[in-house]
Amino acid sequence: MKLILVLSGFFLMLQLSAQDTAFQTYYEKSHYLATPRYAETIEFCKKLDKASPILKYTTFGKSPQGRDLPLLIADKNGNFTAEAVRKSGNAVLLIEACIHAGECDGKDAGLMLLRDIAIYKKSLPLLDHVTILFIPILNTDGHERFGPYNRVNQNGPEEMGWRTTAQNLNLNRDFMKADAPEMQAWHKLYNEWLPEFFVDCHVTDGADFQYTMTYALETNGCMEKNLSEWTRNICESYLVSEMKKSGFPVFPYVEFRNWHDPRSGLTQTVAPPMLSQGYTAVQNRPGLLIETHMLKPYKARVTSTYTMLTHTIEILNKEYKSLQALETKADEFTASEKFRKEPFPVSFSESYADSTQIEFLGFEYTIDTSDLTGGLWFKYNNQKPTVWQLTMFPNCKADKYVTLPEAYLIPPQCISVIEGLQLHGVKMTKLNHEVTCSVKSSRFGKMRWQQKPFEGHHKLTYELADSIEQRTFPAGTMLVEMNQRTARVIAHLLEPASPDSYASWGFFDAYLEQKEYSESYVMETLAREMIQKNPSLKAEFDQKKAADKNFDADPDAMLNWFYSKSPYWDSRLNLYPVGRIVNRSEIDKIKQ
Ligand SMILES: [Zn+2]
Repeated sequence: MKLILVLSGFFLMLQLSAQDTAFQTYYEKSHYLATPRYAETIEFCKKLDKASPILKYTTFGKSPQGRDLPLLIADKNGNFTAEAVRKSGNAVLLIEACIHAGECDGKDAGLMLLRDIAIYKKSLPLLDHVTILFIPILNTDGHERFGPYNRVNQNGPEEMGWRTTAQNLNLNRDFMKADAPEMQAWHKLYNEWLPEFFVDCHVTDGADFQYTMTYALETNGCMEKNLSEWTRNICESYLVSEMKKSGFPVFPYVEFRNWHDPRSGLTQTVAPPMLSQGYTAVQNRPGLLIETHMLKPYKARVTSTYTMLTHTIEILNKEYKSLQALETKADEFTASEKFRKEPFPVSFSESYADSTQIEFLGFEYTIDTSDLTGGLWFKYNNQKPTVWQLTMFPNCKADKYVTLPEAYLIPPQCISVIEGLQLHGVKMTKLNHEVTCSVKSSRFGKMRWQQKPFEGHHKLTYELADSIEQRTFPAGTMLVEMNQRTARVIAHLLEPASPDSYASWGFFDAYLEQKEYSESYVMETLAREMIQKNPSLKAEFDQKKAADKNFDADPDAMLNWFYSKSPYWDSRLNLYPVGRIVNRSEIDKIKQ
């Protein structure tokens, strides 16, 4: 009897250890030092799919170099379509790793977590009310620019991918303009599923301190009020306390008032919607940014990511119904007239009005003057943990508001803008006839283009002169009404005052170029005729010459000035092609 028990125990152990080896991840096999390449990652995902009825491997697009964008879906009921999951009542959690492909902690943590849930059945209840979409590698091309020297600040794995895509775009600046094919595919996936919660896994740079992980949740302004409160009071407080219990105390994303200098105090920011968690916030869906600390060993970073993902799924299982109800309400509110009547903030900055003293788990450090550069040299001693008493500036302030219209009219030639809005899930109506109506128009002035490109664009700043006028829009114009759940996204994209608008990214630059010029000898004659007809023009001209030295020294500019006052001038120069409908009655007329 004893022998049988011992033998059966032995065979069970053998079986378990065979199972363990079969489903060990590349990272585990490497003794927690290395991360798998793209092909090995996909192979492992397929293996999980084959072995488990509750996991499905699929793809959701292709990279510019032709790599499939991988997706693992975990659902306890074997529902693998957005429609079936919606019907089941489950909440959807989207976890994304390797948007910055050198920061691969989320890939290795996510693969282990899904394996543990689905194959080892360690924590199957995590899937009771939550369906997980896991993107192990979003930036697949960047991931295959693989090497040991891709992250100068980062302590492992042995080799890793590269921050940007093959097109050298940073996907975590691309959520609004969506230039990259990878981001366009992400938007299609996002809109198909509209996940209740989103997690984006990174590794941070910056100062050295004790926390293995810092995080950011949008609770400071961009998101609807009740959802922000849920995020702060329910979600954040749960994650912070559970992470502490699990041995990984966490702290909000660390940004010092003066970069690198802890003595200057800690600030909080509102992530603009070009960033992942800032983007989901304007979609009325909370997003969690996790940033493991670059100098911590790879194993500690992956374990802390695994732990944070687990606690996130736990709170979603507890809260899925109330979160779903809050998001439905946030969507309804965003589509309501009440929302459009409020001033809408499009940019935020730090506020230094209030501060509090906090304790921060840092390391002892000294500040020397570098004999190499003359700059300050912060020397952290990670053998000497200490508690820093820091000033925290916990608030942000909105520094630019816009008035929201009832609808936008986008003429059909604005092809990339129309396609972009559709990617964001924006609903629109194509008008099959020409319309003339009263709109609020903007004219750009004092444009300044950034000298250096940013994400392939020379962003610009400008002043806007608004006026109400009658304008005619051709057949094929898109009517984008604001009584829809994506109204925050639409406002950020179409209000030129928003730093993330298409206008600010330069999508309308061609409309800011003068395309017709007068010959000087033609204009010399015409200017005289104009003065003869309208003598006050000469006074205006003299005034401008007296006030503007550059103008006074530039005959071409002077003649162009007269040209601008003539009927030949391009009335559409610097005109924002998009019109805003302010009165609902205009929409009813257009739709008749
Ligand atoms: Zn990152």
